[in-house]
Amino acid sequence: MGQHHHTSRRTSSDHNAIQVICLGSGGGPSEDNVTGFLVRSTASKWAKGSLLAVDAGSHLAAITRILERDFPLFDANKEPPSTTLQEGPFAGLSFPYASARANAVHVVREHVATYLITHPHLDHLAGFAINTAAFHNTSRPKRLAALPFTVNAIKSHIFNDVIWPNLTDEDNGVGFVTFQRLTEGGNLALGDGHSRGFIEVCDGLEVKGFRISHGQCASAPRPDHQVRRGSNPNIGMMAPDGGRRASVFSQPSQPGTPTFYGQSGPQPDFMQTCVVDSTAFFIRAAETGMGREREILVFGDVEPDSISLCPRTRTVWAEAAPKIALGILRGLLIECSYNDDQPDAVLFGHLAPRHLIAELQVLAEMVAERKKELGEKAGRKRKRASTHGGDDVMGNGDAGTGAATPKSHHAHSVQLPLDPDLDEKVNPSEPENGPPRIYEGPLKGVRVVVIHVKDTMTDGPPVGESILQELWAHETRLALQGKALGCSFEISFSGASFLF
Ligand SMILES: [Zn+2]
Ligand SMILES: [Zn+2]
Repeated sequence: MGQHHHTSRRTSSDHNAIQVICLGSGGGPSEDNVTGFLVRSTASKWAKGSLLAVDAGSHLAAITRILERDFPLFDANKEPPSTTLQEGPFAGLSFPYASARANAVHVVREHVATYLITHPHLDHLAGFAINTAAFHNTSRPKRLAALPFTVNAIKSHIFNDVIWPNLTDEDNGVGFVTFQRLTEGGNLALGDGHSRGFIEVCDGLEVKGFRISHGQCASAPRPDHQVRRGSNPNIGMMAPDGGRRASVFSQPSQPGTPTFYGQSGPQPDFMQTCVVDSTAFFIRAAETGMGREREILVFGDVEPDSISLCPRTRTVWAEAAPKIALGILRGLLIECSYNDDQPDAVLFGHLAPRHLIAELQVLAEMVAERKKELGEKAGRKRKRASTHGGDDVMGNGDAGTGAATPKSHHAHSVQLPLDPDLDEKVNPSEPENGPPRIYEGPLKGVRVVVIHVKDTMTDGPPVGESILQELWAHETRLALQGKALGCSFEISFSGASFLF
């Protein structure tokens, strides 16, 4: 069943691509499908230590489940077949054991070198903690790489000999886990060109992280003038994601809490006590000289800038825009926890489709600007004969969708919320009509993969389906206004593999 006894090597077109395997696509409440991914550079050819786990709410159990498709869960057969799968997310990896569980733990022990964690919430960390029981018998400790606020929280609140044994190599711990504290915004002494600031976290992959905002602590004191843009009547209620966030996180600036700003930055006091931190990571395939530069951008849980006390996604978009304009960055994994039925007052630091679209509009505007600059530069080089240099870099070869021209991208205005009346005029992409249409727009070529969908646990279709439909409906609406984003939208699920 899909097994082959030789390695299936990928074609040269995949040199230096980045593969993402989704292990868990949810944000709860079910504990078996919470956020976790495996990321690798295809150039590393499944070498030991070449897999990067990005968040690990779901980890070993999900790998086991995926491998059950090709291997039995148990196998009494003592002869290891050493099988290389030809299909599926682990195609090309050589498995030494007969059973799914033995092979899954082999993947974790031998291939996963580093755990890159966006923020310390349990739905991004639980698998890692439980899986530490399999971390013995490896030649070196597992590395947990994160911004200091995440490392501090995990060190103080998980591996503290109360919640879990101190398995770290700090404070006389056992030494199964070692921390790599990343510099926010990257270490600018490292790398140059587009790789400036990136630091290697496992074989073949480099990262750069930016702090983003993930809602506010439910009962933290807030200055009145900060209650704006639709005040939150549910400010005192419990957050389903963070649990009783208020009681844990409301102490001001405790080291090790998600709200602690490790390096005392310029943030005013109210931000230190009110805003929950998370991280967006740029992940880059290390240069191999075998192909073009490749990057993806993975967001931890995030709230929209439009309602944040501390709006910071714009900084991430500013970093991403030139890389999208140049075609280096083509994959964006970002949460969309709810569908548009969720009111702004009860987002708990997350996004719904209307917010994701508004955020992407900010990005699209920046990308259009950069493409215009690039076009002008290229135009000048080409003897300044052309007066429409921007068109070439836009990749508008197959225009005719009635979508935006570069000029109208430039005039993008960010609207929130989008006009709901337009729903009547636009027929949103229906699944039975085949894949939705990808419009011309600044984000053409970018795949937006939705992660961290919160299961409604109700009868009826999974909420991910309505999220996807709403995203495409927003995009169709924007296209009719001549402001299409141009990206594609996909929903992640456990076992899915994406190649960027
Ligand atoms: Zn989460
Ligand atoms: Zn969270």
